[in-house]
Parts: sequence; C-alpha cells; structure tokens
Amino acid sequence: MESILLLAHAEPDGTLAKPALEALAAALALDGELTVGLVGEMVQPAADQIAAAGAARILGVCGEAFAAARYATDAAAAEALARAAGSAIVLAPATSRWSRAIPGVAFRLGGRVDTHATNMAVKNEVPAVTRWFYRQRMEAVLTRTQRPWFVLLDGGCFEPFDRTPGASGTATVELLAVQPPATRTTVTGVQAPKADEQTIRPDAKLLFVAGAGWTKKQADGAVHGAIGLTLILGFLRSAKASLGGSKSLVDLSGEGEAVLRFMTHLNQIGQTGSTPRHAKGLSTCCHGEEPHVVGWRFVTERRAINLDANCGWARGKADVLYVADAFAVMREVNRLMAL
Ligand SMILES: Cc1cc2nc3c(=O)[nH]c(=O)nc-3n(C[C@H](O)[C@H](O)[C@H](O)COP(=O)(O)OP(=O)(O)OC[C@H]3O[C@@H](n4cnc5c(N)ncnc54)[C@H](O)[C@@H]3O)c2cc1C
Repeated sequence: MESILLLAHAEPDGTLAKPALEALAAALALDGELTVGLVGEMVQPAADQIAAAGAARILGVCGEAFAAARYATDAAAAEALARAAGSAIVLAPATSRWSRAIPGVAFRLGGRVDTHATNMAVKNEVPAVTRWFYRQRMEAVLTRTQRPWFVLLDGGCFEPFDRTPGASGTATVELLAVQPPATRTTVTGVQAPKADEQTIRPDAKLLFVAGAGWTKKQADGAVHGAIGLTLILGFLRSAKASLGGSKSLVDLSGEGEAVLRFMTHLNQIGQTGSTPRHAKGLSTCCHGEEPHVVGWRFVTERRAINLDANCGWARGKADVLYVADAFAVMREVNRLMAL
C-alpha cells in the first residue's frame, strides 16, 4: 500500500473531533505507512490523543493564525504538511473547513481530489474510493493514477479511532515553520446557536422530519402552526433528535410564512437537500415523494406518520407507516416521553 497522510484540524481545545477520528480509522484500515498532519492553534493534545494509533510521523502546523477556519491559512498549512510528508494518498475528513481548502491544495500540488468519499480500500491491489453519484442513487468505486490523491471522507462512514482511556501517550510532533499568508479575512468571533437550540445534530440516533402538512388546514378547517411548533420542539428536546424538513416546508419558512421559525434550508432533506446518516428516521406530515425520500438513503429504519394511506411512504419507502394525525400522535408521544 502507498504512503498515506491523514490531515486533521484540531478543535479550540487542541483535541480532535469525531470526523478526524473517523478519517484516522479509515487511514489505519488502509495499512500503508501513515503520517498524520495536524493543524490548529495548538496540536499537542491532538497528537497525544492519537499517540497509540501507530503513525510513523506526526507533523504539525500550529499558531494563532491557524486556529480559525479560513481558506488562506488552512490551505497554506495543508500544502506545507502535504509537501513535507510527500505521501501518495492524502485523506481528510469532509469537514466544512477541509472541504473548502483541500481542492485548492490538490491543485497547488498537481494532484487530484475526490470529495464525498464514503470508503477507501484496496481493491485489485490499488487504493479505490467509493462514492455515490446522482444524489445517492448510484454507487461507484473509482481509482486514480495521479498522485498525490486527496480524498475527503464523509462523516459517519467509519467507526472513529477508539482511544481507549489510558492508551494515549505523549507523541512527538515535528512542527513545521509555516509563514501565515497575508489574509484579507479576519475572524472576529463565532456566532452559534446554544447547544439546545441547535436543531441539526448529525450524531443523533433519530432524524425527525417535518413536512408541509404541519402548516396545512386540519380537520377543523384551521391551521395550527403554533401547536405544531410546540409539539415539534418538545419532541426534539426530549428525544435529542436531529430536525429535518421537506423542501415544501423549508421554502415556506424561507418566505417568512407563519410556520416553524427555526427551520432553514440547512434542514432540508432530499435531492436538493442533505443525505444524513441516522439509525432511525420519523417523518411527519410529509408526503414521501421521491425527491425527498432519496435523502433518506442512509437512514437505517424509517417510519412515517401521514393521514393519507396512499402517500409515498406507503409505497415501499418506509418500514412502518402510521396512518394517523401527526398532531395527535406527537402529542401522545411527548406525553409518554415526559413520564
Ligand atoms: C428537482 C426537484 C428537487 C426536489 N428536491 C427536494 C428535496 O431535496 N427535498 C424535498 O423534501 N423535496 C424536494 N422536492 C419537492 C418534492 O417533490 C415535494 O414537493 C416535497 O417533498 C413535498 O413536501 P411535503 O411532503 O412536506 O408537502 P406536501 O406534498 O404538501 O405533503 C404534505 C403531507 O402532509 C400530510 N398531512 C397533512 N396534515 C397531516 C396531519 N395532521 N397528520 C399527518 N399527515 C398530515 C398530507 O397528507 C400530505 O401527504 C424536489 C422537487 C424537484 C422537482
């Protein structure tokens, strides 16, 4: 197997987050000589965290300039690490940070990049990447002859490298002196919703999807958006579920109509939305049309609640369909969860 460089950026506390540990597991499974390249304000905690992984070298680019996500500094750090390692394969987790910087780095090094890889393994004695095309409808396995070959690995495809407590040690990091490039972007701070207001939770066991039905006239001829909002928020809080939406619902929210104020296009699941990975999914008030359901490709167990026994979910798209009023079902579910 060819030599591999794993690129990872450290979190503000200096450690590695789950996507980096997943990519490390993928790199270890390849069984080639492994170099790890770390970027961040400080990288020693990250290096210590993976000391037991058995990397041949751990390189680092650190300093205040490399703390925040920014194309110029991330690309400069990754380029320096890739040149110093000289590895044929460069693996990185598909975080927003690396997804932005790595394609440019591949260009600078005369290499190639593949994004949204879901696996990398040796097939017919050469490394091969697996990825999905046409919105997860077709899966392809592809190889390349160009080197360096950069691969951005999607989250949730590998069990993260498990640092058994006590197994970490003190790793030696070879620090590279990288002059931070002149930047036009100054990072002044981070604005993020409070943890319990964050509705997109990739690590949640359950994906809860709300469809446009929550905004439609109900049996009494009235719209009950405010009740829907309370029911959905109540469920999200107690189940710690991630929130998805159908395109119809997020479009309504975007147009400022009275619906779920916390729903944005980032929540949209489907062909023109996202394809999250969760163990279970519960769809409510959503018709289950193909452009939506294609986003459920990697949801393992699917259930739906719809008034319409002929909705899309009934046509082999859900494991269980409850033909019922989602308002009534979620009210009862919330009651039971509060017990
Ligand atoms: C190119 C293209 C790309 C697209 N990409 C996407 C995409 O990425 N994601 C996506 O979602 N869509 C996408 N769509 C749109 C998609 O085809 C559907 O229009 C959309 O998913 C419908 O949203 P919905 O099911 O929430 O709304 P509706 O079709 O309006 O369905 C609402 C459902 O709610 C049910 N309902 C109403 N009240 C209740 C109640 N009290 N209890 C239970 N059920 C109730 C109704 O029976 C109905 O089935 C795309 C379309 C195109 C053409």
